[in-house]
Amino acid sequence: MSGETVGTRGLVLNEPLIFEQGSPGRVGYSLPTSDVREVKPDRLIPKKLLRDDIPGFPEVSEVDVVRHFTRMSQWNYGIDLGFYPLGSCTMKYNPRLNEDMARLPGFARAHPYQPEEASQGALQLLWELEQYLAEICGMDRVSLQPSAGAHGELTGIMLVRAYHTSRGNPRKKILIPDSAHGTNPASSAVCGYQIVPVKSGPRGVVEPQAVAEVMDDEVAGIMVTNPNTLGIFEDHIVEIAKIVHGKGGQVYCDGANLNAFVGIARPGDMGIDVIQLNVHKTFSTPHGGGGPGAGPVAMKRHLGPFMPVPTVEKKGKEFTLNYKLPKSIGKVRSFYGSFGVLVRAYTYIRTLGPTGLRRAAEVAVINANYILNQLKGTYHLPYDRFCKHECVFDDALQVPDNVKTLDIAKRLMDYGFHPPTIYFPLIVHGALMIEPTETESKETLDQFIAAMKAIAKEAKEGGDVVRAAPHNPRVSRMDETRAARQPNLRWRPKA
Ligand SMILES: *Cc1c(COP(=O)(O)O)cnc(C)c1O
Repeated sequence: MSGETVGTRGLVLNEPLIFEQGSPGRVGYSLPTSDVREVKPDRLIPKKLLRDDIPGFPEVSEVDVVRHFTRMSQWNYGIDLGFYPLGSCTMKYNPRLNEDMARLPGFARAHPYQPEEASQGALQLLWELEQYLAEICGMDRVSLQPSAGAHGELTGIMLVRAYHTSRGNPRKKILIPDSAHGTNPASSAVCGYQIVPVKSGPRGVVEPQAVAEVMDDEVAGIMVTNPNTLGIFEDHIVEIAKIVHGKGGQVYCDGANLNAFVGIARPGDMGIDVIQLNVHKTFSTPHGGGGPGAGPVAMKRHLGPFMPVPTVEKKGKEFTLNYKLPKSIGKVRSFYGSFGVLVRAYTYIRTLGPTGLRRAAEVAVINANYILNQLKGTYHLPYDRFCKHECVFDDALQVPDNVKTLDIAKRLMDYGFHPPTIYFPLIVHGALMIEPTETESKETLDQFIAAMKAIAKEAKEGGDVVRAAPHNPRVSRMDETRAARQPNLRWRPKA
């Protein structure tokens, strides 16, 4: 089977529940007999509250426990284990240096209620990070408070709403291109805006004409994901910004994909008023599975008065927290943001510097275009042009052989790769969205490309092996709908 020659052998996972292991009387410790007078538990806790037995409780040794949890920790596919080309998620390798810095006791053990005089180092880091992100974005102020990308979007649209409200009318609508991230319409709707969709053109970008047609003085602004979810740079952004500004609207950029042009171009120079950054993507932090993130919001000067409080300010050599911002939208998160994630972002920016950040973006784009060109022809490319940090294929060449995107994604697991993002963006039927990031070597990309080509060949040769995939992992095809709707997460002892 070609699965054994291309890629790695995949994950072989087999481990009973801890409840299914051990034997009666086995314990996880061995200590000498105590020479201290024993205190019976029922002298401390009333007898009726003590139980003699816990039904089905596992009786296991220390090595049983350690091996059980170590094995299970290895089922957790992660960026430290292999290639993770999840489009739009920027699963890049995270330097260990960031982790060391986040664990420095002065940072890790700082208490958020510590007085300002005792928090100068932490405040300085926040203040400097704000300056760096402002410079990187070409913006004037940055709020570090939001917890993640979507939270940053919400904060940004709240700023837009507060701005319009302060001028007498919050307005009613937000324009959102069909190539925007799915969180964009959600963030606008939560802020009370109606969504007006804007169709992207044949080149995969929004045409200025399409914006002009729907732009009026009821429109609070536009939310553009740039580069968009096709991995294509919205190259009419300057003209689009002029059209929106011409009718008094604001330009919001979903900047989660800043890794495509960080250090090369600045959103503030493109007419963008407000942008969120996913520092857990562009500026590295382990994320995924609902893990920690941070979604700082950078803005032009006119939105500054509405920023969340507290802001960090520098007075002489002192750093202080300013809660006195009368027009502020208020707090969007407890304390000052995901501080540990911000330490990682700060470290990443300081270690790479301006040229390193630019290089990271360049390599991310080169890697994505390498995959695009190597797989073009084997897989159908709906928008056949250079991409930025990610490329989007579909299953049009496999569908005649009755193999679909889902089958391809499952089969990749047999080759030892995390599948790419699938069926997103919605404007591409059967999408396979691949984002390699700059941290992958050419060898890894070549292994992935070989696996993708092997799957396409298997599809041509009948496709049974692809349709029944995955074969190597512990569990094969799952009922994903039922798993999401009726999760069964609790073990109960047999009666
Ligand atoms: C990842 C992403 C988001 C959402 O970010 P979270 O941190 O997961 O909330 C929003 N927009 C785009 C374009 C993204 O790639």
